[in-house]
Amino acid sequence: MIDQKFADTFRHKGLRKKLVEEIRRKGISNEAVLKAIESVPRHLFFDSGFLEFAYEDKAFPIGAGQTISQPYTVAFQTELLKVQKGDKILEIGTGSGYQASILYQMGAKVFSIERQRTLYVKAKEKLPAMGYLVKSFFGDGYKGLPAFAPFDKIIVTAGAPYIPQSLTDQLKPGGILVIPVDEGDSQLMTSIGKLSDGTLETRQHGRFRFVPLLGDKENS
Ligand code: SAM
Repeated sequence: MIDQKFADTFRHKGLRKKLVEEIRRKGISNEAVLKAIESVPRHLFFDSGFLEFAYEDKAFPIGAGQTISQPYTVAFQTELLKVQKGDKILEIGTGSGYQASILYQMGAKVFSIERQRTLYVKAKEKLPAMGYLVKSFFGDGYKGLPAFAPFDKIIVTAGAPYIPQSLTDQLKPGGILVIPVDEGDSQLMTSIGKLSDGTLETRQHGRFRFVPLLGDKENS
């Protein structure tokens, strides 16, 4: 029997199809990414009072001063990751768990770190209950997850003031790190490829707005 908490109706599915068409028009062309956006019920990552906002192409507050990213941004970052089935991917900034679920849906093994305890606890319970078997960790994403490294891909979903070396160190040769970088109001979406000899190749992909990646002692 379907748990009503996780109901995904024809109406929701219809709204998701429209959302997919909207982000396709905005330039996302990777069919596997679009299919994942169409499959994962974004409304289930919202508190029940706000369901009508779930299929707008906008970021939305999820509590603890944080946001679920705009679907276009999720799709854009996921496209840059060039996800392959079986990839071992580290996400920094679990938040609602939506981005992690998209990666899982695409066949990745997903590890995700969150520094806000309330969000970590919520995602750790919710994701497996929805069938997204993401490994959730509470901690500081600046440090990555050395015990589980190296990773094929790493995605940072908060604005970083700089590129933490621990993250490039934890990338496999041939791996990709996607990270929005800058201290100001907006960040430059940056993708870093690690070549087989370990050198890093950096590309920039335009400006986006993220909540900041916070350090250990900063307030949230
Ligand atoms: N990926 C999320 C989703 O799908 O809902 C959206 C992430 S939200 C834009 C950024 C998240 O990064 C917030 O949940 C925030 O608490 C978290 N964060 C900020 N600094 C962090 C750090 N140093 N380590 C881990 N998570 C951090």
